[in-house]
Amino acid sequence: MIISEPKSLEQILASIEGENKVFLIGCTECATVCQVGGEPQVLEWKKTLEENGHEVTGHLIAEPGCHLLELKRQLRARQAEVDAADGFLIFSCGTGAQVAAQALAGKSVHPATNTVFLGSVQRFGQFAEFCSACGDCILDITKGICPVTRCAKGLLNGPCGGTSEDGKCEVDPETDCAWKLIYDQLSAEGALDRVKKMMEARDVRRKPGRRVLARGGTK
Ligand code: SF4
Ligand code: SF4
Repeated sequence: MIISEPKSLEQILASIEGENKVFLIGCTECATVCQVGGEPQVLEWKKTLEENGHEVTGHLIAEPGCHLLELKRQLRARQAEVDAADGFLIFSCGTGAQVAAQALAGKSVHPATNTVFLGSVQRFGQFAEFCSACGDCILDITKGICPVTRCAKGLLNGPCGGTSEDGKCEVDPETDCAWKLIYDQLSAEGALDRVKKMMEARDVRRKPGRRVLARGGTK
């Protein structure tokens, strides 16, 4: 899931300065689970924006916000509200904001959130970053614990030597050392042999600036 957090009211008001009429777009998926772009949050922002002198011409909780053709179709159903707006605030992830900019080409589109990481839901309202989408997954070797993301130094052959006696990371004493977790898991399974072989440096070319996944592979 893509984890986002709301921008501040000051940031949002600054982004739509001079745009009196705005249309709001949330998303039924990650942004709803993160409670940044579901119906309750978007309606709350509508009220706040109206209190601050803006007119909200309409809102849409896109199903989902990152699907270009679906978003275009859903916006067409709100054409009058869309046409009446000077600007658009997007309460989904950065991908959703860019898809909205594509769907609303030529119009003024503003992200209303900051996208922070790919995460898991640990419990309601609590998220943890577990994957950096590196494109070269090694979880089979590390028993389902990702050192690329969860080790503060991203070490492939850890630990670094700074793990505290109670198994915490030297960079962040609140966080478990990822390599301690990996060794504990391997040890419990009698599989420590797995990490006796040095892991080679990852092929960072697997993580270019922009990837497009199409049938047949990643470009
Ligand atoms: S190794 Fe870690 S960052 Fe890379 S794909 Fe696997 S879980 Fe994600
Ligand atoms: S203490 Fe563990 S998690 Fe922290 S940087 Fe060192 S190896 Fe990585």
